[in-house]
Amino acid sequence: MQQYIDSYDFTGKKAIVRVDFNVPLNENFEITDDTRIRAAIPTLKKVLEKGGSLIIMSHLGRPKKVDPKFSLKHIVARVSERLGVPVQFADDCMKADAQAAALKPGEVLLLENLRYYAEEEGKPRGLAEDATDEEKAAAKAAVKASQKEFVKHLASYADCYINDAFGTAHRAHASTALIAKYFPNDKMFGYLMEGEIKAIDHVLHEAERPLTAIVGGSKVSSKLAVLKNLVGKVDNLIIGGGMGYTFIKAEGGKIGNSLHEDDLMPDALAILEEAKAKGVKVYLSTEAVGTQEFSNEAETKVFPSCDIPDEWEGVDAGPHTLAAWKKVIDASKTILWNGPVGVFEIPQFAKGTLRIAQDLAEVTAAGAFTLVGGGDSVAAVTQMGFADKVSYVSTGGGAMLEAIEGKDLPGIAAIRE
Ligand code: AMP
Repeated sequence: MQQYIDSYDFTGKKAIVRVDFNVPLNENFEITDDTRIRAAIPTLKKVLEKGGSLIIMSHLGRPKKVDPKFSLKHIVARVSERLGVPVQFADDCMKADAQAAALKPGEVLLLENLRYYAEEEGKPRGLAEDATDEEKAAAKAAVKASQKEFVKHLASYADCYINDAFGTAHRAHASTALIAKYFPNDKMFGYLMEGEIKAIDHVLHEAERPLTAIVGGSKVSSKLAVLKNLVGKVDNLIIGGGMGYTFIKAEGGKIGNSLHEDDLMPDALAILEEAKAKGVKVYLSTEAVGTQEFSNEAETKVFPSCDIPDEWEGVDAGPHTLAAWKKVIDASKTILWNGPVGVFEIPQFAKGTLRIAQDLAEVTAAGAFTLVGGGDSVAAVTQMGFADKVSYVSTGGGAMLEAIEGKDLPGIAAIRE
């Protein structure tokens, strides 16, 4: 049975909390952005305030063995600073029994990187390149078998389990999904998870209409499942960015040198057909900003998106397109934005993406619900200073993308079931 942090009695209890402390470190192992640590602090503080103690677990990077470069010891001081209490460190997540047992209310223990163990992900490591299928199957079975012990051992440290790692909610790993079954009546989401889940549910299941999705980014192939799911749910679908050109070419447009995927043109046409059948309005770019060179100094020209000369490449949405999209955005009550509508990394091609961010800020101020998630649009709104002017900015790229695809995320299902 799922519990809730606000009503759970943590007095004298040890909570094992899965967080996403996979923060970027520089060459001196200093944290360059501690957003992920800050995001988990409300949950962690609440447990301590309510008389509990904390055993915090996370991964950092993608180590394939014990590797000091990926040690969570680099972040102990910052976690302690943000939490406002000392943080003890267990330098092996499987040998923390004594430290966990000795924890008193208000005390905090951070476990070393879970991914030092293959059991966290449940995937075999160190297989020879020429391993046979039987060898691969045997290695997989072996790691799955030892994974049970790994999960049980982690669970033995605590009385209750909290998952606040939305960034890894789409992974069926030991600490994100499997451990929950050891706490059938004492498992719950942290505040960050709760916020993400509410935002997704609001858009996908309880949206006030009209509901508009803006999908951009580079490739149709990476967003096919997203488009397929959204076309059954939204009223308006704005398709921009590099991926828009596959649609425009599929419809017979001349797109010059613009990014596109010929093999996905049938899928693009099928999505347009389905939208038509369902009465969903699709808005492709009608006007493109073109360039012959990916640089901030390059000459640019505006072309009809379906008539771009051979040497030119569409890298941003043109003014008429942005004006047309703005009308759709202004008339919407709920908006989901996934993926930039231009090569926003280069300032002179970032105007369209900036304009979308501004439009979303305006409709949010006017009462619409706006969710930005699952791709580079999150980086764009954050970079452009609009993160606090939209309703919700997701912290989990891959997890949000899979949620928008309509998939059940293992980290969420494990708490709910
Ligand atoms: P995604 O990760 O799928 O959200 O894609 C983000 C990437 O799409 C960014 O790096 C953008 O530079 C890129 N992108 C957006 N529009 C275009 C375009 N018209 N041509 C090429 N790349 C684009």
